[in-house]
Amino acid sequence: MLTRLSKSGYEAYLVGGGVRDLLLGREPKDFDVATNARPEEVKQVFNNCRLIGRRFRLAHVHFGREIIEVATFRSNQKTTEAGDRQVENGMILRDNVYGTLEEDAQRRDFTINALYYNIDDFSVVDFANGMVDLQQGVIRLLGDVESRYREDPVRLLRAIRFAAKLGFVIEPATEAPIARFAPLLGEVPSARLYEEVLKLFLGGAALESFEKLRHYELFGQLFPATEEALSHEDHEFPITFVNRGMANTDDRLSQGKSVTPAFLFAVLLWEPVRLRAERFEAEGAHPLEALQNAAAEVLSEQAKHVSIPKRFSYPMRDIWQLQARFTQRQGKRPQRLASHPKFRAAYDFLLLRAESGEVDQELADWWTLYQHANGEEKVSMTEQGRRGRGRRRRKRRKKTQTVDE
Ligand code: ATP
Ligand code: MG
Repeated sequence: MLTRLSKSGYEAYLVGGGVRDLLLGREPKDFDVATNARPEEVKQVFNNCRLIGRRFRLAHVHFGREIIEVATFRSNQKTTEAGDRQVENGMILRDNVYGTLEEDAQRRDFTINALYYNIDDFSVVDFANGMVDLQQGVIRLLGDVESRYREDPVRLLRAIRFAAKLGFVIEPATEAPIARFAPLLGEVPSARLYEEVLKLFLGGAALESFEKLRHYELFGQLFPATEEALSHEDHEFPITFVNRGMANTDDRLSQGKSVTPAFLFAVLLWEPVRLRAERFEAEGAHPLEALQNAAAEVLSEQAKHVSIPKRFSYPMRDIWQLQARFTQRQGKRPQRLASHPKFRAAYDFLLLRAESGEVDQELADWWTLYQHANGEEKVSMTEQGRRGRGRRRRKRRKKTQTVDE
């Protein structure tokens, strides 16, 4: 791939996370390539190539299922005849001014992300002392810290992400303005923040990221309702649900299990949903209705900050909604619940709630047993309740039927 470009007379280097991870002895997630060939020129070298992006024009070269991103060296200069760059209130909106390798290095975010690997001679080009920072485990923003954050506030989140994922420390000058600049995230499109949140929480260091985001007051910019719920926590009963959810996410990923964005966001937003549902119930709403309304409210406020695609917010509602049905253990209800397509996710969610002391462990254990029980055992498990609560159940049923079906 790199050889193809260099044989065609262009310079080409591996850059970014792939190089960083290689040098750290970690398995690189993907490889990015930087070259002095223009996107159109890259397209001429590879026929399996597509040009994408307006804000940041790139070539995607396809190799089977893999995609390699090929970016042309860019410069920080305001204007040249060769491209365009659009800046508004210090924020970069478009960045397509081409430049040299050195200029390209200057506009990258952190020193450890500005290493260029030349596979012709296995040398590393390092304009920013990235190698030293990599060895010492330091996250250091390139250039003037304040203007680099203003240019692109997402760098605030990237600093946290790399510190959490790599176990690096954020160098003092890079660290100092983070909390103060946190409100700048309000200017970042919610769709871009969604992408960034996924990287923060699905990269294997969710718990560490969560704790750091809260420490640097960034979490409240992403999930204000959750931050609010957590900051009002009763100190005798600290809310550990989100922490446990994040630890659980990391465990699952390290075991090679999947984590869906729906489950992740359901965990991240549960505290405000739960508190609001409690309030609606106290005001007289039926539990299911209270949950439904709470979910709708929290999701619509959340959309202003981090937009969650509909294909995930629908299953999130299911996961939440099913929580209200776990307490109904009589008759045919457990069987109906267990055949719901989101039962498994909702059950995992229930386990987390039990772990954090929000519901009785006994309830979670009951459902664990129920799933492993054979037909006969299931009948007796669901009958026990029925005998004792027969009358009450019949009376309640009338009331709940409309909401439940
Ligand atoms: P990951 O392992 O998460 O992919 P990465 O460092 O490769 O980490 P990418 O988002 O894939 O991160 O970006 C690739 C490279 O592009 C970065 O290493 C960095 O050099 C540059 N880059 C990405 N985002 C920014 C940004 N917001 N500002 C400046 N440079 C950036
Ligand atoms: Mg990358």
